[in-house]
Amino acid sequence: MPLFTSVLVTPPTTEPVSLQAYNSLRLPAYASDCITIAQSAALLEVSHRLAKRPRCILGGGTNLVIRASQESPLQATVLINQLKGIVRLSGVVDHQVRIRCAAGESWQSFVMWTLAQGLAGLENLAGIPGTVGAAPIQNIGAYGVEVAEQIEAVHVWDFHQHDHAVLSAQDCAFGYRDSLFKNPEIQGPWNAPRYLVTAVDFRLWTDGRAPLRLGYSGIGQKLRDLGIDHQPNAYQVAHAVMSLRGEKLPDPDQHPNVGSFFKNPQVPDAFAASLAQKHPELPRYPQSGGTKLSAAWLIEQAGLKGWADSRAGVSSQHALVLVNQNEATAEDIQALARLVQRRVMGQFGVWLEPEPVYWPAG
Ligand SMILES: Cc1cc2nc3c(=O)[nH]c(=O)nc-3n(C[C@H](O)[C@H](O)[C@H](O)COP(=O)(O)OP(=O)(O)OC[C@H]3O[C@@H](n4cnc5c(N)ncnc54)[C@H](O)[C@@H]3O)c2cc1C
Repeated sequence: MPLFTSVLVTPPTTEPVSLQAYNSLRLPAYASDCITIAQSAALLEVSHRLAKRPRCILGGGTNLVIRASQESPLQATVLINQLKGIVRLSGVVDHQVRIRCAAGESWQSFVMWTLAQGLAGLENLAGIPGTVGAAPIQNIGAYGVEVAEQIEAVHVWDFHQHDHAVLSAQDCAFGYRDSLFKNPEIQGPWNAPRYLVTAVDFRLWTDGRAPLRLGYSGIGQKLRDLGIDHQPNAYQVAHAVMSLRGEKLPDPDQHPNVGSFFKNPQVPDAFAASLAQKHPELPRYPQSGGTKLSAAWLIEQAGLKGWADSRAGVSSQHALVLVNQNEATAEDIQALARLVQRRVMGQFGVWLEPEPVYWPAG
């Protein structure tokens, strides 16, 4: 499949554009202006046109809380990333293959494509919604794996230089749900991002050589339930992960959500130890520089799993997921998030940091 095909760029709109279908919380949000980018050649023109104007970059809208009514739409041009294409950059070298994927491809479709090619490395990340271009932004992770482990380089459009650039994985400063793209000192504020990801280069394993990760959150048991007892392949691991996700997470089509609403907090070891004295069942995950706690456990223990008002609620399936119950607005979701933060703070002295991005920020 060639990279970056299709039409150039749709003209900017003049009426406020509804973004309700473009965000997985299905919030009634509007933008003053939208441009769909389907070919990288369009970026030079767009870059100059938007040099001094507010802009923001939209992938699949699965990690966004957008606060903007029809009367007061987002005062920024929303750039909708539709860059498509996947290419193999190398043959097999040391049991590994390099693949470049354009940023507007669906993450799930890309993972399934790699598995169909007999490539491994992304199987634990199967089932995560959104686009390939957003995967490095918060360094998506699930079932003990972070995407950074397979990323070799990230191709970007640099709005400061009006040119393409390539960032190595090291340049991207990946951390837990974090990267350079979330650092406002480098990426800028929400309405003036410096870098638009255009493509991502991955280094993947030929299946059979991949160090499969089976030890996390029931993958081994699920494989056994599926009748796979010995040496699963990457496709079977992905199948197990998707099956587990389907059981644990509310379906965003029926219960609009953005997945985990809060990051798992990291606290000093001594603080975690003192909490564990009061709550012996507290799950603790030692890290370098502190102890990670389970945000879902804290929310559940605060009595909020399944809590809901008429519009927004904490999923009864998974305490980390806030859902749009019935025509919720961004303000409803934000009020619920604050309630969760305050209750957990009051009960455990731990402040939960939201995972999704807010437009406008703050
Ligand atoms: C049901 C559900 C389950 C989820 N499970 C997980 C999970 O297991 N693990 C996990 O890590 N996340 C999970 N998520 C969160 C989300 O899917 C990921 O963060 C995903 O990568 C967001 O992709 P997106 O294209 O929708 O990004 P968007 O929501 O459109 O954007 C998110 C941020 O990235 C920026 N961005 C998007 N594309 C680009 C680009 N090309 N260049 C520069 N900036 C860009 C946006 O400006 C915004 O700041 C889940 C979400 C849902 C709804």
